[in-house]
Amino acid sequence: MQGLMMDRPLLISSILDYAASNFATTEIVSLGTGGGEHRYGYAELAARSARLAHALRSLGLETGDRVATLAWNNHRHLELYYGVSGIGGVIHTINPRLQPEQIAWIINHAEDRWLFVDTTFLPLVAALQPHLRSIERVFVLEPADAMPADSGIESLHSYETLIADQPDQMDWPELDEHTAAGLCYTSGTTGHPKGVLYSHRSTVLHAYATAMADTASSGRGDTIMPVVPMFHANAWGLPYLAPIVGARLVFPGPKMADGATLYSLMEDEQVTYTAGVPTIWMALLQWLRDNDRTLTSLRYATVGGAACPPSIIREFAERHGVITAQGWGMTETSPLGSMSLLSAQEEVALGEDGQVERRAMQGRPPFGIELRVTDDDGQLLPRDGESAGRLQVRGAWVCSSYFRDDGQSDAHGTDGWFDTGDVAVIHPDGWLQITDRTKDVIKSGGEWISSIELENLATSHPDVAEAAVIARPHSRWTERPLLVVRPSGKRQPTMNDLRAQFTGRVPDWWIPEDAVYIDEMPLTATGKISKLTLRERFADYRFPSDGA
Ligand code: AMP
Repeated sequence: MQGLMMDRPLLISSILDYAASNFATTEIVSLGTGGGEHRYGYAELAARSARLAHALRSLGLETGDRVATLAWNNHRHLELYYGVSGIGGVIHTINPRLQPEQIAWIINHAEDRWLFVDTTFLPLVAALQPHLRSIERVFVLEPADAMPADSGIESLHSYETLIADQPDQMDWPELDEHTAAGLCYTSGTTGHPKGVLYSHRSTVLHAYATAMADTASSGRGDTIMPVVPMFHANAWGLPYLAPIVGARLVFPGPKMADGATLYSLMEDEQVTYTAGVPTIWMALLQWLRDNDRTLTSLRYATVGGAACPPSIIREFAERHGVITAQGWGMTETSPLGSMSLLSAQEEVALGEDGQVERRAMQGRPPFGIELRVTDDDGQLLPRDGESAGRLQVRGAWVCSSYFRDDGQSDAHGTDGWFDTGDVAVIHPDGWLQITDRTKDVIKSGGEWISSIELENLATSHPDVAEAAVIARPHSRWTERPLLVVRPSGKRQPTMNDLRAQFTGRVPDWWIPEDAVYIDEMPLTATGKISKLTLRERFADYRFPSDGA
């Protein structure tokens, strides 16, 4: 027997309609690429997204057509999120920090028809244009009078002119909820980037899951500032979460790595919740320290995209009264996979140090995500907090295969689970702890050493700002861990100082015998420490104990 309930599709346009009807004047604040500030409410967002959708239809957009963006976190980018997907188009957000050849490859692979760009990226587009095979027109996210006189780009148009004379009402089509809505390529370190194609259904379900009390924990009293870019897994879904809970949105535009701007926005706009990668928070915390400032309105920050050093968790709590939770996820998981937010009871039971230790793990999956850990032969490992293996995931917002992959990737198993490429243990209470990336794992004497655990201990030393542990060859042990340190001040911590951090906390044979020091950590396109670059940089390194 079938249930007798209405069959309403889960559509991105319904998020917009809902927010426009219920939170018409709730603000979206956005910093302009060329400076200045823009404000409007969800009703105006809906009206302008409708105008964009009409304009795209008049250009000939058909269901499934890809529309690319190279843009910062701002209100026009948000209109593209809704205007494109709302009529069955696919918004393809491109990471401008990728290598230009990779960007050209991605655009050609996706066969994007139109490209919408912030002025920052015009020189990049000018250089790429001769290699782009499918782009029909390029639109600058500015009014006509702010268009550059000589961009060197053929067929360059103004976004504001495009949408100017269009109707601001739209009867959004009732699409099949499985229709593709968004496309995002992962920044693979080897091989070509891989496209993750989100659907309306997966996006809406992800937005619900993100809003739950133990994930983003947000409501209409909140002001949310995504410091994660809108080109990194849809700013972790926050542009869809805020409208469903009626929260204000604050977009930092191109100023996402600028401590002074982030601080003023947080204080002026009374931001209560934010999310970003550890390197962003490290830089902001340093700026706050140097300028003797304290955050007064922020209550909660998600730190994700890479393991969060305990030093960030402590400093947010002790100096700013901000709770942090670590989010684990991937472009392939939309990205929410788990979150380490503690309940009030857990906080009391754990005490201060215990809390930091738990928050420095990756937490529990929300309902809708299942996690398991297997050995290399695919045998399930116990959830005992000790057995480390390959982390696999499945769920309604996990990618089922890559876009036009032609069987290149073997990450999607035949039994419906996705192999994340992460190494993890799961604790008996379901708490996830990532110990490494498969590619970064250190195999010493036939056993694995967790680089993340060593890095977390190293960064707890006051003289260490950032640490990365990489595998280097060793004639006796196959590989040994090399500690790469960026000191926090002038004093360079000695290996003896650092050894004290590890002793008694990890097995003795894990402890790095040597450290090397650098002034700046190399970063990937998504702002994570690039271990690939570090391995290249220290390719000729030999351990003192390696007499071979
Ligand atoms: P991306 O698709 O670029 O977001 O990268 C996803 C990868 O980032 C994951 O497979 C992990 O290796 C890593 N990652 C994301 N969040 C975390 C976290 N909280 N702790 C450790 N690694 C993480």
